Amino acid sequence: MMEPRPSPLATIDGAIPRDGVAGHRRPETESMEKISFLNQVNRNFDKAAAFTSHDRTLLEQIKVCNSVYRMAFPLRRDDGTIEVIHAWRAEHSQHKMPTKGGIRFSPDVNEDEVMALAALMSYKCAVVNVPFGGAKGGVAINRKNYSAHELERITRRYTFELTKKNFIGPGVDVPAPDYATGPQEMAWIADTYISLQRNELDGLGCVTGKPVHLGGIRGRREATGLGVTYGIREACSNAADTKALGLTPGLDGKRIVIQGFGNVGYHAAKSLEEGGGRIVAVGEADGSISLPAGLPVEKLLEHRQEKGTIMGFPGSTALPERDLLLELDCDILIPAALENAITLNNAARIKARIVAEAANGPTTAEASDQLFQRGVLVIPDSYLNAGGVTVSYFEWLKNLSHVRFGRMEKRFEERAFQHVLRVVESATAKKLGDDIYRAMVHGADEKDLVYSGLEETMVNAYQEIREIQKRLDGQADLRTAALIDAIDKIARCYAEMGIFP
Ligand code: NAD
Repeated sequence: MMEPRPSPLATIDGAIPRDGVAGHRRPETESMEKISFLNQVNRNFDKAAAFTSHDRTLLEQIKVCNSVYRMAFPLRRDDGTIEVIHAWRAEHSQHKMPTKGGIRFSPDVNEDEVMALAALMSYKCAVVNVPFGGAKGGVAINRKNYSAHELERITRRYTFELTKKNFIGPGVDVPAPDYATGPQEMAWIADTYISLQRNELDGLGCVTGKPVHLGGIRGRREATGLGVTYGIREACSNAADTKALGLTPGLDGKRIVIQGFGNVGYHAAKSLEEGGGRIVAVGEADGSISLPAGLPVEKLLEHRQEKGTIMGFPGSTALPERDLLLELDCDILIPAALENAITLNNAARIKARIVAEAANGPTTAEASDQLFQRGVLVIPDSYLNAGGVTVSYFEWLKNLSHVRFGRMEKRFEERAFQHVLRVVESATAKKLGDDIYRAMVHGADEKDLVYSGLEETMVNAYQEIREIQKRLDGQADLRTAALIDAIDKIARCYAEMGIFP
Protein backbone atom coordinates (compact mmCIF):
# COMPACT_ATOMS: atom_id res chain seq x y z
CA MET A 1 0.00 0.00 0.00
CA MET A 2 1.29 3.47 -0.86
CA GLU A 3 1.68 5.87 2.06
CA PRO A 4 1.24 9.61 1.54
CA ARG A 5 4.22 11.70 2.58
CA PRO A 6 4.39 15.41 3.26
CA SER A 7 4.08 17.19 -0.06
CA PRO A 8 7.54 17.71 -1.52
CA LEU A 9 6.14 20.64 -3.47
CA ALA A 10 4.79 22.63 -0.57
CA THR A 11 7.23 25.43 -1.28
CA ILE A 12 7.58 25.04 -5.01
CA ASP A 13 6.28 28.03 -6.90
CA GLY A 14 7.04 26.64 -10.33
CA ALA A 15 3.61 27.63 -11.54
CA ILE A 16 3.01 31.02 -10.00
CA PRO A 17 -0.70 31.70 -9.43
CA ARG A 18 -1.79 34.73 -11.38
CA ASP A 19 -4.99 36.57 -10.87
CA GLY A 20 -7.57 36.48 -13.59
CA VAL A 21 -9.25 39.29 -15.44
CA ALA A 22 -12.24 40.97 -13.86
CA GLY A 23 -15.39 38.90 -13.94
CA HIS A 24 -13.81 35.50 -13.26
CA ARG A 25 -16.37 33.70 -11.08
CA ARG A 26 -15.37 33.40 -7.43
CA PRO A 27 -17.75 31.95 -4.85
CA GLU A 28 -17.79 34.03 -1.72
CA THR A 29 -16.87 31.33 0.81
CA GLU A 30 -13.61 30.43 -0.92
CA SER A 31 -10.86 33.03 -0.95
CA MET A 32 -9.71 34.58 -4.21
CA GLU A 33 -6.40 32.78 -4.01
CA LYS A 34 -7.99 29.41 -3.37
CA ILE A 35 -10.38 29.64 -6.30
CA SER A 36 -7.58 30.28 -8.81
CA PHE A 37 -8.05 27.39 -11.24
CA LEU A 38 -4.29 26.90 -11.49
CA ASN A 39 -4.02 26.69 -7.70
CA GLN A 40 -6.76 24.07 -7.75
CA VAL A 41 -4.95 21.93 -10.31
CA ASN A 42 -1.63 22.32 -8.52
CA ARG A 43 -3.20 21.47 -5.17
CA ASN A 44 -4.56 18.25 -6.65
CA PHE A 45 -1.13 17.59 -8.18
CA ASP A 46 0.64 18.05 -4.81
CA LYS A 47 -1.80 15.68 -3.15
CA ALA A 48 -1.04 12.97 -5.70
CA ALA A 49 2.70 13.70 -5.74
CA ALA A 50 2.80 13.00 -2.00
CA PHE A 51 1.91 9.37 -2.74
CA THR A 52 4.87 8.98 -5.14
CA SER A 53 8.57 8.68 -4.42
CA HIS A 54 9.84 10.79 -7.32
CA ASP A 55 12.65 13.27 -6.95
CA ARG A 56 11.53 16.77 -5.88
CA THR A 57 13.06 18.48 -8.93
CA LEU A 58 11.46 16.00 -11.27
CA LEU A 59 8.07 16.70 -9.68
CA GLU A 60 8.71 20.43 -10.09
CA GLN A 61 9.47 19.93 -13.79
CA ILE A 62 6.28 17.89 -14.28
CA LYS A 63 4.15 20.48 -12.47
CA VAL A 64 5.46 23.71 -13.97
CA CYS A 65 3.99 25.26 -17.14
CA ASN A 66 6.86 25.34 -19.67
CA SER A 67 5.79 28.21 -21.92
CA VAL A 68 3.02 30.78 -22.26
CA TYR A 69 2.47 33.13 -25.17
CA ARG A 70 0.29 36.11 -24.27
CA MET A 71 -0.80 38.23 -27.20
CA ALA A 72 -2.94 41.24 -28.04
CA PHE A 73 -3.98 42.22 -31.55
CA PRO A 74 -6.34 44.71 -33.14
CA LEU A 75 -9.65 43.67 -34.69
CA ARG A 76 -11.40 45.91 -37.20
CA ARG A 77 -15.08 45.43 -36.44
CA ASP A 78 -17.75 45.36 -39.14
CA ASP A 79 -18.79 48.93 -38.23
CA GLY A 80 -15.20 50.18 -38.81
CA THR A 81 -14.24 50.63 -35.14
CA ILE A 82 -11.09 48.98 -33.78
CA GLU A 83 -10.98 46.72 -30.73
CA VAL A 84 -8.01 45.10 -28.97
CA ILE A 85 -8.37 41.32 -28.56
CA HIS A 86 -6.49 39.51 -25.77
CA ALA A 87 -5.50 35.88 -26.20
CA TRP A 88 -3.16 33.18 -24.85
CA ARG A 89 -1.58 29.85 -25.67
CA ALA A 90 0.05 27.82 -22.91
CA GLU A 91 2.23 24.76 -23.50
CA HIS A 92 2.48 22.98 -20.20
CA SER A 93 4.77 20.07 -20.97
CA GLN A 94 6.89 18.99 -23.93
CA HIS A 95 7.79 15.59 -22.48
CA LYS A 96 5.98 14.26 -25.55
CA MET A 97 5.57 16.17 -28.79
CA PRO A 98 3.47 17.73 -30.14
CA THR A 99 1.60 19.41 -27.32
CA LYS A 100 -2.17 19.28 -27.62
CA GLY A 101 -5.16 21.15 -26.25
CA GLY A 102 -8.29 23.04 -27.20
CA ILE A 103 -8.94 26.71 -27.81
CA ARG A 104 -11.80 28.37 -25.96
CA PHE A 105 -13.59 31.61 -26.64
CA SER A 106 -14.79 33.03 -23.35
CA PRO A 107 -14.89 36.55 -21.91
CA ASP A 108 -13.64 35.09 -18.59
CA VAL A 109 -10.58 33.33 -20.00
CA ASN A 110 -7.23 34.43 -18.54
CA GLU A 111 -3.63 33.30 -18.18
CA ASP A 112 -4.28 31.37 -14.95
CA GLU A 113 -7.07 29.45 -16.65
CA VAL A 114 -5.17 28.46 -19.81
CA MET A 115 -2.16 27.36 -17.73
CA ALA A 116 -4.43 25.26 -15.52
CA LEU A 117 -6.18 23.74 -18.53
CA ALA A 118 -2.84 23.06 -20.24
CA ALA A 119 -1.60 21.20 -17.15
CA LEU A 120 -4.82 19.17 -17.06
CA MET A 121 -4.21 18.26 -20.71
CA SER A 122 -0.73 16.86 -19.91
CA TYR A 123 -2.19 14.69 -17.13
CA LYS A 124 -5.21 13.67 -19.23
CA CYS A 125 -3.10 12.56 -22.18
CA ALA A 126 -0.92 10.49 -19.85
CA VAL A 127 -3.95 8.87 -18.17
CA VAL A 128 -5.42 7.71 -21.49
CA ASN A 129 -2.02 6.88 -23.04
CA VAL A 130 -2.21 9.47 -25.80
CA PRO A 131 1.37 10.47 -26.73
CA PHE A 132 1.08 14.26 -26.43
CA GLY A 133 2.16 16.93 -23.98
CA GLY A 134 -0.53 19.33 -22.73
CA ALA A 135 -1.46 22.77 -24.06
CA LYS A 136 -4.45 25.13 -24.10
CA GLY A 137 -5.46 28.34 -25.80
CA GLY A 138 -7.98 31.04 -25.05
CA VAL A 139 -9.37 34.17 -26.69
CA ALA A 140 -11.11 36.59 -24.33
CA ILE A 141 -14.32 37.20 -26.27
CA ASN A 142 -17.99 36.34 -25.97
CA ARG A 143 -18.65 34.92 -29.42
CA LYS A 144 -22.29 36.02 -29.30
CA ASN A 145 -21.10 39.64 -29.61
CA TYR A 146 -19.29 39.11 -32.94
CA SER A 147 -20.44 38.44 -36.50
CA ALA A 148 -19.21 35.37 -38.41
CA HIS A 149 -16.82 37.61 -40.40
CA GLU A 150 -15.39 39.08 -37.20
CA LEU A 151 -14.95 35.61 -35.66
CA GLU A 152 -13.13 34.52 -38.80
CA ARG A 153 -10.78 37.53 -38.62
CA ILE A 154 -10.09 36.88 -34.91
CA THR A 155 -9.41 33.16 -35.47
CA ARG A 156 -7.15 33.74 -38.47
CA ARG A 157 -5.16 36.47 -36.71
CA TYR A 158 -4.80 34.28 -33.62
CA THR A 159 -3.44 31.49 -35.85
CA PHE A 160 -1.08 33.93 -37.54
CA GLU A 161 0.28 34.95 -34.12
CA LEU A 162 0.74 31.31 -33.09
CA THR A 163 2.54 30.53 -36.37
CA LYS A 164 4.86 33.52 -36.00
CA LYS A 165 6.01 32.32 -32.58
CA ASN A 166 6.12 28.61 -33.46
CA PHE A 167 3.20 27.80 -31.13
CA ILE A 168 1.39 25.70 -33.74
CA GLY A 169 2.32 22.91 -36.15
CA PRO A 170 1.74 19.16 -36.57
CA GLY A 171 4.95 18.35 -34.68
CA VAL A 172 4.87 21.34 -32.33
CA ASP A 173 1.47 22.19 -30.87
CA VAL A 174 -1.93 21.07 -32.18
CA PRO A 175 -5.07 22.94 -31.05
CA ALA A 176 -8.63 21.55 -31.06
CA PRO A 177 -12.15 22.77 -30.20
CA ASP A 178 -13.12 23.66 -26.65
CA TYR A 179 -15.75 25.87 -25.05
CA ALA A 180 -17.51 27.99 -27.74
CA THR A 181 -15.35 26.82 -30.65
CA GLY A 182 -16.02 24.06 -33.16
CA PRO A 183 -15.26 22.69 -36.65
CA GLN A 184 -15.64 26.10 -38.35
CA GLU A 185 -12.92 27.72 -36.25
CA MET A 186 -10.69 24.66 -36.73
CA ALA A 187 -11.16 24.95 -40.52
CA TRP A 188 -10.06 28.62 -40.42
CA ILE A 189 -7.03 27.65 -38.33
CA ALA A 190 -6.01 24.87 -40.77
CA ASP A 191 -6.50 27.10 -43.80
CA THR A 192 -4.47 29.96 -42.29
CA TYR A 193 -1.64 27.69 -41.18
CA ILE A 194 -1.42 25.90 -44.53
CA SER A 195 -1.43 29.22 -46.39
CA LEU A 196 1.56 30.33 -44.32
CA GLN A 197 3.46 27.00 -44.48
CA ARG A 198 2.93 26.08 -48.11
CA ASN A 199 5.48 23.29 -48.33
CA GLU A 200 4.45 21.41 -45.23
CA LEU A 201 3.12 18.06 -46.41
CA ASP A 202 1.50 17.25 -43.04
CA GLY A 203 0.08 20.76 -42.58
CA LEU A 204 -3.49 19.53 -41.99
CA GLY A 205 -2.25 17.88 -38.80
CA CYS A 206 -1.74 21.36 -37.28
CA VAL A 207 -5.22 21.27 -35.71
CA THR A 208 -7.90 18.66 -34.96
CA GLY A 209 -11.68 18.78 -34.77
CA LYS A 210 -11.79 19.94 -38.41
CA PRO A 211 -14.79 19.30 -40.68
CA VAL A 212 -14.54 15.81 -42.20
CA HIS A 213 -13.99 17.12 -45.73
CA LEU A 214 -11.05 19.20 -44.56
CA GLY A 215 -9.07 16.35 -43.00
CA GLY A 216 -11.33 15.83 -39.98
CA ILE A 217 -12.37 12.43 -38.73
CA ARG A 218 -15.81 10.87 -38.36
CA GLY A 219 -16.74 10.63 -34.69
CA ARG A 220 -14.70 13.62 -33.39
CA ARG A 221 -17.70 15.86 -32.80
CA GLU A 222 -19.37 13.40 -30.39
CA ALA A 223 -16.11 11.95 -29.02
CA THR A 224 -15.94 13.79 -25.67
CA GLY A 225 -19.61 13.16 -24.80
CA LEU A 226 -19.41 9.54 -25.91
CA GLY A 227 -16.20 9.07 -23.90
CA VAL A 228 -18.06 10.48 -20.87
CA THR A 229 -20.70 7.78 -21.35
CA TYR A 230 -18.12 5.01 -21.71
CA GLY A 231 -16.41 6.22 -18.53
CA ILE A 232 -19.63 6.40 -16.50
CA ARG A 233 -20.72 3.01 -17.83
CA GLU A 234 -17.40 1.52 -16.72
CA ALA A 235 -17.69 3.08 -13.26
CA CYS A 236 -21.21 1.64 -12.96
CA SER A 237 -20.26 -1.82 -14.20
CA ASN A 238 -18.74 -3.19 -11.00
CA ALA A 239 -21.33 -4.62 -8.58
CA ALA A 240 -19.28 -4.00 -5.42
CA ASP A 241 -18.43 -0.40 -6.40
CA THR A 242 -22.03 0.50 -7.22
CA LYS A 243 -23.31 -1.21 -4.08
CA ALA A 244 -20.97 0.95 -2.01
CA LEU A 245 -22.65 3.98 -3.62
CA GLY A 246 -26.13 2.63 -2.88
CA LEU A 247 -26.76 2.05 -6.60
CA THR A 248 -27.41 -0.98 -8.79
CA PRO A 249 -24.91 -1.89 -11.55
CA GLY A 250 -25.44 -0.61 -15.09
CA LEU A 251 -26.83 2.56 -16.63
CA ASP A 252 -30.37 1.32 -16.92
CA GLY A 253 -32.87 3.65 -15.25
CA LYS A 254 -30.19 5.87 -13.68
CA ARG A 255 -31.50 9.40 -13.03
CA ILE A 256 -29.10 11.82 -14.67
CA VAL A 257 -28.79 15.62 -14.38
CA ILE A 258 -26.68 17.54 -16.90
CA GLN A 259 -25.38 21.11 -16.60
CA GLY A 260 -24.55 22.50 -20.07
CA PHE A 261 -26.25 21.33 -23.25
CA GLY A 262 -23.43 22.18 -25.66
CA ASN A 263 -21.20 19.81 -27.58
CA VAL A 264 -20.14 17.68 -24.61
CA GLY A 265 -23.40 17.87 -22.63
CA TYR A 266 -25.65 17.07 -25.59
CA HIS A 267 -23.59 14.11 -26.85
CA ALA A 268 -23.21 12.70 -23.33
CA ALA A 269 -26.99 13.04 -22.82
CA LYS A 270 -27.71 11.35 -26.14
CA SER A 271 -25.43 8.35 -25.59
CA LEU A 272 -26.48 7.94 -21.94
CA GLU A 273 -30.14 7.94 -23.00
CA GLU A 274 -29.33 5.30 -25.64
CA GLY A 275 -27.62 3.27 -22.89
CA GLY A 276 -30.79 3.25 -20.75
CA GLY A 277 -30.18 6.33 -18.57
CA ARG A 278 -32.96 8.84 -17.85
CA ILE A 279 -32.07 12.53 -18.29
CA VAL A 280 -34.26 14.05 -15.57
CA ALA A 281 -32.95 17.63 -15.76
CA VAL A 282 -30.82 19.84 -18.01
CA GLY A 283 -29.36 23.26 -17.28
CA GLU A 284 -28.20 25.96 -19.66
CA ALA A 285 -26.80 29.46 -19.25
CA ASP A 286 -30.31 30.98 -19.28
CA GLY A 287 -32.04 28.50 -16.96
CA SER A 288 -32.69 24.89 -16.00
CA ILE A 289 -35.59 22.51 -16.62
CA SER A 290 -36.62 19.14 -15.19
CA LEU A 291 -38.88 16.30 -16.23
CA PRO A 292 -38.79 13.29 -13.85
CA ALA A 293 -40.06 10.91 -16.56
CA GLY A 294 -37.03 11.82 -18.66
CA LEU A 295 -36.30 14.59 -21.18
CA PRO A 296 -36.15 13.18 -24.73
CA VAL A 297 -32.72 14.40 -25.79
CA GLU A 298 -33.20 14.69 -29.56
CA LYS A 299 -36.50 16.56 -29.15
CA LEU A 300 -34.88 18.87 -26.60
CA LEU A 301 -32.15 19.68 -29.12
CA GLU A 302 -34.74 20.40 -31.82
CA HIS A 303 -36.60 22.68 -29.38
CA ARG A 304 -33.38 24.52 -28.58
CA GLN A 305 -32.49 24.92 -32.25
CA GLU A 306 -35.94 26.28 -33.03
CA LYS A 307 -36.43 28.59 -30.01
CA GLY A 308 -32.81 29.39 -29.11
CA THR A 309 -33.33 28.09 -25.55
CA ILE A 310 -34.14 24.87 -23.69
CA MET A 311 -36.63 26.80 -21.55
CA GLY A 312 -40.30 26.13 -22.22
CA PHE A 313 -39.73 22.57 -23.43
CA PRO A 314 -43.21 20.92 -23.47
CA GLY A 315 -43.95 18.98 -20.26
CA SER A 316 -40.88 20.27 -18.40
CA THR A 317 -40.79 22.43 -15.27
CA ALA A 318 -38.48 25.44 -14.99
CA LEU A 319 -36.34 25.46 -11.82
CA PRO A 320 -36.76 28.63 -9.70
CA GLU A 321 -32.99 29.21 -9.91
CA ARG A 322 -30.63 27.97 -12.63
CA ASP A 323 -27.97 26.47 -10.35
CA LEU A 324 -30.45 24.58 -8.12
CA LEU A 325 -30.08 21.99 -10.87
CA LEU A 326 -26.83 20.87 -9.26
CA GLU A 327 -28.62 20.09 -5.99
CA LEU A 328 -31.42 17.95 -7.43
CA ASP A 329 -31.97 14.42 -6.14
CA CYS A 330 -30.42 12.15 -8.79
CA ASP A 331 -27.99 9.26 -9.27
CA ILE A 332 -25.49 10.94 -11.59
CA LEU A 333 -24.72 14.66 -11.87
CA ILE A 334 -22.76 15.72 -14.96
CA PRO A 335 -21.32 19.23 -14.94
CA ALA A 336 -20.58 19.87 -18.65
CA ALA A 337 -20.26 23.66 -18.84
CA LEU A 338 -17.34 25.45 -17.16
CA GLU A 339 -15.13 25.27 -14.07
CA ASN A 340 -16.11 25.99 -10.45
CA ALA A 341 -19.70 24.75 -10.69
CA ILE A 342 -19.37 22.78 -7.43
CA THR A 343 -17.69 24.74 -4.64
CA LEU A 344 -17.88 24.84 -0.86
CA ASN A 345 -21.01 26.96 -1.41
CA ASN A 346 -23.07 24.03 -2.63
CA ALA A 347 -21.04 20.80 -2.08
CA ALA A 348 -22.91 19.85 1.10
CA ARG A 349 -26.22 20.03 -0.78
CA ILE A 350 -25.19 17.82 -3.71
CA LYS A 351 -27.41 14.73 -3.59
CA ALA A 352 -25.99 12.79 -6.54
CA ARG A 353 -24.09 9.58 -5.74
CA ILE A 354 -21.80 10.10 -8.74
CA VAL A 355 -20.42 13.42 -9.98
CA ALA A 356 -19.11 12.84 -13.51
CA GLU A 357 -16.82 15.70 -14.53
CA ALA A 358 -17.46 16.18 -18.23
CA ALA A 359 -16.28 19.80 -18.03
CA ASN A 360 -12.73 20.75 -17.07
CA GLY A 361 -12.35 21.76 -13.42
CA PRO A 362 -16.06 21.85 -12.49
CA THR A 363 -15.37 20.93 -8.83
CA THR A 364 -13.01 22.92 -6.63
CA ALA A 365 -10.40 20.89 -4.75
CA GLU A 366 -12.02 21.56 -1.36
CA ALA A 367 -15.49 20.67 -2.62
CA SER A 368 -14.09 17.49 -4.16
CA ASP A 369 -12.57 16.50 -0.79
CA GLN A 370 -15.90 17.08 0.90
CA LEU A 371 -17.74 14.92 -1.64
CA PHE A 372 -15.16 12.14 -1.18
CA GLN A 373 -15.65 12.25 2.59
CA ARG A 374 -19.41 11.93 2.05
CA GLY A 375 -18.88 8.81 -0.07
CA VAL A 376 -19.77 10.46 -3.39
CA LEU A 377 -17.82 9.09 -6.36
CA VAL A 378 -16.25 11.93 -8.38
CA ILE A 379 -15.11 10.64 -11.78
CA PRO A 380 -12.38 13.20 -12.51
CA ASP A 381 -12.04 15.42 -15.55
CA SER A 382 -8.44 14.29 -16.03
CA TYR A 383 -9.89 10.95 -17.10
CA LEU A 384 -13.55 11.40 -17.97
CA ASN A 385 -13.47 14.03 -20.71
CA ALA A 386 -10.39 12.56 -22.43
CA GLY A 387 -12.50 11.14 -25.27
CA GLY A 388 -12.00 14.37 -27.23
CA VAL A 389 -8.21 14.28 -27.17
CA THR A 390 -8.25 10.53 -27.84
CA VAL A 391 -10.15 10.96 -31.09
CA SER A 392 -8.09 14.07 -31.88
CA TYR A 393 -5.09 11.75 -31.69
CA PHE A 394 -6.77 9.46 -34.25
CA GLU A 395 -7.46 12.49 -36.48
CA TRP A 396 -3.82 13.60 -36.25
CA LEU A 397 -2.67 10.07 -37.16
CA LYS A 398 -5.04 10.15 -40.14
CA ASN A 399 -3.59 13.49 -41.28
CA LEU A 400 -0.02 12.19 -41.02
CA SER A 401 -0.85 8.96 -42.85
CA HIS A 402 -2.94 10.78 -45.50
CA VAL A 403 -5.43 7.91 -45.63
CA ARG A 404 -8.90 7.40 -44.16
CA PHE A 405 -9.15 4.68 -41.49
CA GLY A 406 -10.83 1.59 -42.95
CA ARG A 407 -10.13 2.51 -46.59
CA MET A 408 -7.63 -0.30 -47.16
CA GLU A 409 -9.28 -3.13 -45.24
CA LYS A 410 -13.07 -2.61 -45.33
CA ARG A 411 -13.84 -4.62 -48.46
CA PHE A 412 -11.20 -7.20 -47.68
CA GLU A 413 -12.86 -7.83 -44.31
CA GLU A 414 -16.31 -8.04 -45.91
CA ARG A 415 -15.09 -10.68 -48.34
CA ALA A 416 -13.46 -12.63 -45.51
CA PHE A 417 -16.76 -12.61 -43.54
CA GLN A 418 -18.66 -13.72 -46.67
CA HIS A 419 -16.20 -16.54 -47.15
CA VAL A 420 -16.64 -17.73 -43.53
CA LEU A 421 -20.45 -17.71 -43.88
CA ARG A 422 -20.24 -19.74 -47.11
CA VAL A 423 -18.01 -22.28 -45.37
CA VAL A 424 -20.60 -22.50 -42.56
CA GLU A 425 -23.38 -22.97 -45.16
CA SER A 426 -21.54 -25.75 -46.93
CA ALA A 427 -20.51 -27.48 -43.65
CA THR A 428 -24.07 -27.40 -42.27
CA ALA A 429 -25.80 -27.80 -45.67
CA LYS A 430 -28.06 -24.95 -44.56
CA LYS A 431 -28.68 -21.63 -46.33
CA LEU A 432 -28.19 -18.62 -44.04
CA GLY A 433 -30.69 -15.77 -44.39
CA ASP A 434 -30.01 -12.29 -45.80
CA ASP A 435 -30.41 -10.87 -42.28
CA ILE A 436 -27.43 -12.93 -41.05
CA TYR A 437 -25.38 -11.83 -44.07
CA ARG A 438 -26.31 -8.19 -43.49
CA ALA A 439 -25.39 -8.37 -39.78
CA MET A 440 -22.11 -10.23 -40.28
CA VAL A 441 -20.76 -8.94 -43.59
CA HIS A 442 -19.70 -5.48 -42.49
CA GLY A 443 -16.11 -4.32 -42.77
CA ALA A 444 -15.19 -1.63 -40.26
CA ASP A 445 -15.43 1.90 -41.60
CA GLU A 446 -13.82 4.98 -40.10
CA LYS A 447 -16.54 5.65 -37.52
CA ASP A 448 -16.60 2.00 -36.35
CA LEU A 449 -12.85 2.11 -35.82
CA VAL A 450 -12.94 5.46 -34.03
CA TYR A 451 -15.69 4.30 -31.66
CA SER A 452 -13.84 1.04 -31.05
CA GLY A 453 -10.54 2.84 -30.29
CA LEU A 454 -12.33 5.33 -28.05
CA GLU A 455 -14.15 2.62 -26.06
CA GLU A 456 -10.97 0.58 -25.67
CA THR A 457 -9.11 3.66 -24.42
CA MET A 458 -11.75 4.75 -21.89
CA VAL A 459 -12.32 1.24 -20.52
CA ASN A 460 -8.62 0.45 -20.09
CA ALA A 461 -7.80 3.82 -18.54
CA TYR A 462 -10.64 3.46 -16.01
CA GLN A 463 -9.38 0.06 -14.94
CA GLU A 464 -5.82 1.45 -14.59
CA ILE A 465 -6.82 4.33 -12.32
CA ARG A 466 -9.31 2.21 -10.34
CA GLU A 467 -6.52 -0.30 -9.63
CA ILE A 468 -4.27 2.49 -8.35
CA GLN A 469 -7.09 3.76 -6.15
CA LYS A 470 -7.66 0.28 -4.72
CA ARG A 471 -3.97 0.09 -3.78
CA LEU A 472 -4.45 3.34 -1.83
CA ASP A 473 -6.92 1.45 0.32
CA GLY A 474 -9.53 4.14 0.80
CA GLN A 475 -7.02 6.94 1.48
CA ALA A 476 -7.58 8.83 -1.75
CA ASP A 477 -10.19 9.55 -4.35
CA LEU A 478 -10.19 8.62 -8.03
CA ARG A 479 -8.84 12.07 -8.99
CA THR A 480 -5.71 11.48 -6.91
CA ALA A 481 -5.33 8.00 -8.39
CA ALA A 482 -5.55 9.42 -11.93
CA LEU A 483 -2.93 12.06 -11.13
CA ILE A 484 -0.58 9.48 -9.58
CA ASP A 485 -0.94 7.52 -12.81
CA ALA A 486 -0.14 10.63 -14.88
CA ILE A 487 2.83 11.66 -12.71
CA ASP A 488 4.33 8.16 -12.88
CA LYS A 489 3.98 7.98 -16.67
CA ILE A 490 5.46 11.44 -17.27
CA ALA A 491 8.27 10.70 -14.78
CA ARG A 492 9.06 7.53 -16.74
CA CYS A 493 9.44 9.63 -19.91
CA TYR A 494 11.94 11.93 -18.24
CA ALA A 495 13.80 8.94 -16.80
CA GLU A 496 14.00 7.34 -20.23
CA MET A 497 15.38 10.57 -21.69
CA GLY A 498 18.13 10.24 -19.08
CA ILE A 499 17.43 13.73 -17.70
CA PHE A 500 16.27 12.71 -14.22
CA PRO A 501 17.21 9.57 -12.30
P1 NAD B 1 -19.90 24.30 -25.67
O1 NAD B 1 -19.62 25.74 -25.86
O2 NAD B 1 -20.26 23.49 -26.85
O3 NAD B 1 -21.05 24.08 -24.59
C1 NAD B 1 -21.07 24.63 -23.30
C2 NAD B 1 -22.53 24.91 -22.94
O4 NAD B 1 -22.60 25.29 -21.57
C3 NAD B 1 -23.15 26.03 -23.78
O5 NAD B 1 -24.34 25.57 -24.36
C4 NAD B 1 -23.37 27.14 -22.75
O6 NAD B 1 -24.52 27.93 -23.04
C5 NAD B 1 -23.57 26.35 -21.47
N1 NAD B 1 -23.33 27.10 -20.25
C6 NAD B 1 -22.49 28.14 -20.04
N2 NAD B 1 -22.57 28.54 -18.77
C7 NAD B 1 -23.49 27.75 -18.16
C8 NAD B 1 -24.03 27.68 -16.84
N3 NAD B 1 -23.61 28.50 -15.89
N4 NAD B 1 -24.96 26.73 -16.58
C9 NAD B 1 -25.37 25.88 -17.52
N5 NAD B 1 -24.90 25.90 -18.80
C10 NAD B 1 -23.98 26.83 -19.10
O7 NAD B 1 -18.60 23.74 -24.93
P2 NAD B 1 -18.14 22.23 -24.84
O8 NAD B 1 -17.18 21.96 -25.92
O9 NAD B 1 -19.33 21.38 -24.67
O10 NAD B 1 -17.28 22.28 -23.49
C11 NAD B 1 -17.89 22.16 -22.22
C12 NAD B 1 -16.83 21.77 -21.20
O11 NAD B 1 -16.22 20.55 -21.60
C13 NAD B 1 -15.69 22.77 -21.02
O12 NAD B 1 -15.26 22.74 -19.67
C14 NAD B 1 -14.60 22.20 -21.90
O13 NAD B 1 -13.30 22.61 -21.49
C15 NAD B 1 -14.81 20.72 -21.66
N6 NAD B 1 -14.24 19.86 -22.71
C16 NAD B 1 -14.63 19.99 -24.00
C17 NAD B 1 -14.09 19.14 -24.97
C18 NAD B 1 -14.53 19.17 -26.42
O14 NAD B 1 -14.12 18.28 -27.18
N7 NAD B 1 -15.36 20.10 -26.84
C19 NAD B 1 -13.13 18.20 -24.61
C20 NAD B 1 -12.75 18.08 -23.26
C21 NAD B 1 -13.33 18.93 -22.33
